[in-house]
Amino acid sequence: MYLVKRHKGMYEVSSWGDDRYPLAVYQVGTRCSCPSYRKPCKHQRMVSKHKSLGEPLGQVYDITPANRVVALHSLLESANS
Ligand SMILES: [Zn+2]
Repeated sequence: MYLVKRHKGMYEVSSWGDDRYPLAVYQVGTRCSCPSYRKPCKHQRMVSKHKSLGEPLGQVYDITPANRVVALHSLLESANS
């Protein structure tokens, strides 16, 4: 799963598994720091999705088998309930 947050005027997309630390962190601006040849890569598509949702804090994203970005749930909502 992935988290998106603003970072120094750009966006930071972090990839999470079962560990307490992210598996990978990518800086996304007009381009992405990942090695993908796909343009836009999945991280850039996640940032687009994040913007379209109004940049909700703590929103978790994932990639479906069809390679689409989906918003899973909000960590902040589950923490408050
Ligand atoms: Zn990327």
